[in-house]
Amino acid sequence: MFVFGPGLTPGISTLIVNILDILFPKHCVGCGRLGRYFCPGCISAIQTINAPICPACENLAIDGATHPGCRTRYCLDGLTSFFRYDGVVRKAIKGIKYRLIFDLAVEFISLIPDVSFSRRTTLLSLKGQSSVLVPIPLHPSRLRERGFNQAEVLGKAITDKLNIPLRTDILLRVKRTIPQVEMKSKDARLKNMDGVFAVNQDDDSLGPVVLVDDVFTTGATMRAAANTLKRIGAPFVWGITIAR
Ligand SMILES: [Zn+2]
Ligand SMILES: [Zn+2]
Repeated sequence: MFVFGPGLTPGISTLIVNILDILFPKHCVGCGRLGRYFCPGCISAIQTINAPICPACENLAIDGATHPGCRTRYCLDGLTSFFRYDGVVRKAIKGIKYRLIFDLAVEFISLIPDVSFSRRTTLLSLKGQSSVLVPIPLHPSRLRERGFNQAEVLGKAITDKLNIPLRTDILLRVKRTIPQVEMKSKDARLKNMDGVFAVNQDDDSLGPVVLVDDVFTTGATMRAAANTLKRIGAPFVWGITIAR
């Protein structure tokens, strides 16, 4: 596993990257072609999401904002997802989940056109001192097994794009859950997420929160995180996932 943090001087890290490129050449995560993590052919096959949905009912919604009729006291205020969870996108997300390759995450995030960010008026309005970007945390035991949190890796890659600071100390995962995909019913998934998150901030200084995760599938994780943050006083919680 190789990680290049900003701590290395540019010269040394470039040198190391060059050496590693020779020792471990990059292959396209989609088709295996040598050179980059995303080859032009696989990039052109990526489907971007142009029709945002309400994160509560999952029907179409303007800008991804939760429908007024779907709103509940502690709900997510909206959701932005960029790509269909399919093909090369699915492979890249799985790649990031099981191997720590920060430059794969950076290359992946760079595929999101800037216009996709600037078109999201809600995200734009969140730029500012009090908003924070919060990756969905892993349970500490899972973090130990895996060594890193893929949502945090993606969050690091988008914090500059959004100009919202990344905070990994606010939201904690205090209960280890069964993977959502193994849960059959919606009720079981809801119960599974009971008491999963806690907030490490007791004052009322919590501003708007942008939650980041790799993929929105059942939405149960993100809804539970929003619920916890709002109970503690977050005025607004918006979700971002790379894929859906
Ligand atoms: Zn390819
Ligand atoms: Zn709705």
